Amino acid sequence: MVVALFRLVLFVFIAYVAFLFVRIFLGLKRGRPRSQAPRQVQGVMVKDEICGTYIPREEALTEIRDGAEHHFCSEECRRKFKKG
Ligand SMILES: [Zn+2]
Repeated sequence: MVVALFRLVLFVFIAYVAFLFVRIFLGLKRGRPRSQAPRQVQGVMVKDEICGTYIPREEALTEIRDGAEHHFCSEECRRKFKKG
């Protein structure tokens, strides 16, 4: 009985680890879109106008005002921008 339970736990653990590996592997493959967005160059830093921080463009929050893009490090900075 105890051995059966131990085997079950071991099996679940192995299945979980395998699942994690598959997810990481698929995540790596999907994380590099090469031909989808030619305009968006990865690794470009943009400036948060509110607090002056530089953030990677793909991680920045974007707000478009008068046709111009503005970038922010956080929702808080974006809110401040909308207010003033
Ligand atoms: Zn900021």
